[in-house]
Amino acid sequence: MQHYPVFLNTRAARIILSGGGEAALAKLRLLMKTEANLHVFAPDAAPEIIDWANAGALTLHRRALKAEDVAGAALVYAADEAEARDSETATLAHSARVLLNIVDNLEGSDFITPAIVDRDPVTIAIGTEGAAPVLARQIKADLEARLPSSLGALARIGKAFRHAADTLPMGRARRAFWSEYYTKTGPASISKGEAATKAALDTLLAQHLTEAPAEGHVVFAGAGPGDPELLTLKARRALHEADVVIYDRLVSPAILELARREALMLSAGKEGFGAAMSQADINALIVKHASAGVQVLRLKGGDPAVFARLDEEIEACEAHDIAFSIIPGITAASASAAALGQSLTKRGRNTEARLVTGHDMQGYADQDWKSLARAGEVAAIYMGKRAARFIQGRLLMHGAAANTPVSLVENASLPNQRIVATTLGQLPNALAEAALTGPALTLLGLAPRDAVAPTLKQEVAQ
Ligand code: SAH
Repeated sequence: MQHYPVFLNTRAARIILSGGGEAALAKLRLLMKTEANLHVFAPDAAPEIIDWANAGALTLHRRALKAEDVAGAALVYAADEAEARDSETATLAHSARVLLNIVDNLEGSDFITPAIVDRDPVTIAIGTEGAAPVLARQIKADLEARLPSSLGALARIGKAFRHAADTLPMGRARRAFWSEYYTKTGPASISKGEAATKAALDTLLAQHLTEAPAEGHVVFAGAGPGDPELLTLKARRALHEADVVIYDRLVSPAILELARREALMLSAGKEGFGAAMSQADINALIVKHASAGVQVLRLKGGDPAVFARLDEEIEACEAHDIAFSIIPGITAASASAAALGQSLTKRGRNTEARLVTGHDMQGYADQDWKSLARAGEVAAIYMGKRAARFIQGRLLMHGAAANTPVSLVENASLPNQRIVATTLGQLPNALAEAALTGPALTLLGLAPRDAVAPTLKQEVAQ
């Protein structure tokens, strides 16, 4: 982000623009919506600018810009569309240390004016740092179509009502009130006019004030394998609504970015064997926050119901009469099979696919090795890296073929995803050689499809 977006307070600010042609007109149309004192310097100004000056919307100086004009200004626009003139304006702005924009000159400018969707006081600024003006226009058109023109009026009425709404307790109660106003009450009443909308706000506030105090609630949600686009819509909404987010190490930073900025973000990071935070501490943390009456999101990698100790956390909630709900997620087995371009079950090959853990509380986990060793079996082995040699030994001992395909998918669905294709016989060697550092799923019985049809590789990776 080379250009950092800010909203400038223009009340009583002086904004200087040098130029009187097309470029100046384009900038002025937007600048005139602000509360700034606009000073235009142009020996030769377009008729529109003269009209605006006559109407008192700006002050027109029919001469070139001088040093004393610039001192103390908030912004300077060089809009003469003539290089020599613009560079004089730039020199004046810089020696007075005033932020400068040279029209159509990104590199020479201190700031740029974004594309804007205007539902004053709701303003959406869109910038692409000059990379894609067409894209910026498309996004603008999209938003223009999506946001009702009444949005500005709703926000203005809402703003005037903020003080009254502050009688609601801070946090969830207040958010619930505003959310209902902006999504239901407001849109339903705004067509009947401002007075009707204000009355509706009064009624809504009275309702919310008499409601019982908010009760805590815990949402156990799966964050999927890492790619934010593999979040469910429900998980995404839960992230947006949560007051407290307690997340695992496997949840990717790009997903945590989706939480509200005010949300309390707590890491319950766990490492393969052993835990950075004990399960009892995590349970206590969940209960503590939910008991305070807030919305807790317990976010787990993949699916919360797959090797994620969900039941223990649920039992802790039940023991304290805390309501909870579960949002499933895409588990690592699904994402890893997709990375290989394979299905987990296939007609004629396997009638079951097993989710297996490499280790449990006692150490390396025991399995029904005999059935796993059968030809055509497919198992997704979670936390299987360290147990690889143990698993290999058991399977070979129970008659599995050494050339049984085994694939490891590290960081499935993420940009740094890696696939290691090997066989049961070669598994420990292949693992040692690959030196995987991220979470990896071992898929017993599956080889990447591109081992057979190499052209598919790219499509699968995308
Ligand atoms: N609840 C999670 C599993 C937690 S156990 C789920 O449903 O996916 C942790 C193990 O999951 C890791 O050791 C690894 O084997 C696997 N895993 C989780 N995310 C992964 C990813 N993005 N790529 C590969 N394996 C992953």
